[in-house]
Amino acid sequence: MKHLFATLLPFVLAAAGLPAHADPDGIPIAAAVDAGCERTVVLPGATYLTGQLTADERLPHPLTLLWSKQSGPGDVTFSNPAAAATEARFSTTGEYILRLTATRGNAQASATVAVTAVAQPPATHLDPLWTPPYQITSPFWHKRTKNLIVNWIPHCVRKLCDPQNREGSIGDFVQAGQILAGKPAAAHEGNEFCDWFLYNVAESMCLAQMIDPQGDPQIIAAQAAMRQTLDDWIPKILSAQEPDGYLLTRATIKHLPHWRDVRAHEGYQAGYFMEFAMAHHLMSGGRDRRLLDAAIRMADCWVRNLGPAPKQAWHDGHQGIEIALVQLARHLEGGPEANKSKDYLALARFLLDSRGNGDEYDQTHLPVTRQYTAVGHAVRAVYGYAGMADIAMETGDAAYRSAVQSLWGNLINRKYYITGSIGSGDTNEGFGRDYALSNNAYAESCSGCGEIFFQHRLQMTWHDARYADLLEQTLYNAVLGSVDLEANNFTYTNPLDSSEPRYPWHNCPCCVGNISRTLLRLPTWIYTRSPDALYVNLYIGSRLTIDKLGGTPVEVTQTTDYPWHGKVTLTLNPATPATFALKLRVPQRHTSSLYTHTPEVPGLTSLTVNGQPVTPLIDHGYALVSREWHAGDRVELDLPLPVQRVKASDMIAATSGRVALRRGPLVYNIESVDQDVEAVLAPDAPLTTHWQPNMLDGVMVIKGTFQDGKPLLAIPNYARLNRGGRSLVWIKDR
Ligand SMILES: [Zn+2]
Repeated sequence: MKHLFATLLPFVLAAAGLPAHADPDGIPIAAAVDAGCERTVVLPGATYLTGQLTADERLPHPLTLLWSKQSGPGDVTFSNPAAAATEARFSTTGEYILRLTATRGNAQASATVAVTAVAQPPATHLDPLWTPPYQITSPFWHKRTKNLIVNWIPHCVRKLCDPQNREGSIGDFVQAGQILAGKPAAAHEGNEFCDWFLYNVAESMCLAQMIDPQGDPQIIAAQAAMRQTLDDWIPKILSAQEPDGYLLTRATIKHLPHWRDVRAHEGYQAGYFMEFAMAHHLMSGGRDRRLLDAAIRMADCWVRNLGPAPKQAWHDGHQGIEIALVQLARHLEGGPEANKSKDYLALARFLLDSRGNGDEYDQTHLPVTRQYTAVGHAVRAVYGYAGMADIAMETGDAAYRSAVQSLWGNLINRKYYITGSIGSGDTNEGFGRDYALSNNAYAESCSGCGEIFFQHRLQMTWHDARYADLLEQTLYNAVLGSVDLEANNFTYTNPLDSSEPRYPWHNCPCCVGNISRTLLRLPTWIYTRSPDALYVNLYIGSRLTIDKLGGTPVEVTQTTDYPWHGKVTLTLNPATPATFALKLRVPQRHTSSLYTHTPEVPGLTSLTVNGQPVTPLIDHGYALVSREWHAGDRVELDLPLPVQRVKASDMIAATSGRVALRRGPLVYNIESVDQDVEAVLAPDAPLTTHWQPNMLDGVMVIKGTFQDGKPLLAIPNYARLNRGGRSLVWIKDR
């Protein structure tokens, strides 16, 4: 960027980015210093400072720049303190303010930037729990997942078996297979991105097989139909893979070159194929390798073709393959192809490192390690950030870690909806400036899925419950609310004030299979682990066996009706007595500085082990219980679930004079079918909860009284807009 310098005045800017307006000579002055956005640096990493000056070029006098520490606990070293763009390193952790000062003679202008320096995360990251066969016993989740299996996925399959479906169908795979077999083929029918919808739906079918139907005839029938569909689809999909491993039906049928057009979403689609293949491999108990082998052939093809010279430099217009390659690398660990993992990780990093010469829309405006603010298309962004978090986790690279934590801080503290949604839509399907959080949000369902993927990786990196708090918030509100209760319709956007009914399909059906594959991966969101610790991130009634914990298989049963009630019982059945730590998340709601909850939630109400009260150590948001566990050991805890009033930061214009209601992870809405949604709720009006078994599949409602004396009835956000009318989160309170 070209910087224009001019007369600078004895005017010290109070905050970054404010222009200095003074005009002693009658000459327009546009001198401004911008020290950049606030950020986090993970030590021993550096932060990349890019000071910017804009001014009137009619006054081209000599000018000097100087970076300095204004405040902070340690020393700050600048690689070149006199350059606008430089690196700063910090001797110790803490909050720093850095100042950039431009000087000409006695005239100065300056601006500051806040930097939080933090220590590295634990040396080893936690491991994900790949979704194993499991039971869902929680009434809340049983209904939601059953409707996805019985209604939603079969609906998506019907669409994808319809040759008239313009957004793609299995027919395109058949035609690509015809071409590869040297036979006549029909034209490509789907749109240019069509393959991935089918992969997401197919992955959802695999994940749906992991759920024990517990004798439910509708689930049993739906699962059987899905197995038939997979038996039909898999050979057709495999027939469309080119001999070198490349797979994209449109490219094969239309004889398009590979890796030439970054808008073709080749990586995004390839990544979803790999994720489908891994889910299928898991579903088969590791016995059916057809798709996994195809995914390996595909990844090998990408590795052979893309990379540092003499290979081709490339990045995708839509991130997604990066997280899939890292997942594939992890999936192969300990197996015969484990030696491929390093190539897949290197390619994932190369694809991220190849970004940097484009624009904000697809996060190519800067090298990823110098991106500190969430910008551009929200789904692309959060998939990219999840990939960066993966690379940071696998390599420990401090520049990656610093960028990831900076992006996370900006996202959560400046651009985050109370529903856990992201993407205000101020830019094209993307983020606006800080605090631009209109209630007429875009908040695509896929960006909610990506938010979950991102927080999950950060929880594994930092062993910190705050990321699971956010994951829960997005899961219960943003993603669960994207389908209706019967799971017949979905929504692409999730505004916090809406009258739009959900619909069965969309001309860009990216969300349709993404919603179900995200919601049906519950065990992965509930637990993470290390060899000797089990992290309980979500409280969902369920039963599953963890293959190895403290050296032995452990059956873990959660019995709870959370989020309706706070009582949770965990029963542990290790195959042989085993010593490991149980880390129970203590839910907190204050991770995002945008929102203040009243009353605060006071941690756990109680915790017992085999009936004996325990006062646990709380470490990074987890209550720690470490002991030798024996079959039948029981841990009981009680989570407080008061109704909370939520106020948003004064910086957010859209929520001024409004309050939101929340109970546990559930954000509430008021709906026009129940009341006048423009009514005012007095700040001190009492609020009570009531179980309504016959309303909205059974919900805990919040009741109160508006200022005009009329009753208030609030329902959970996920159940919104199932009865028509208008639904909104933020209620007038003055
Ligand atoms: Zn989508």
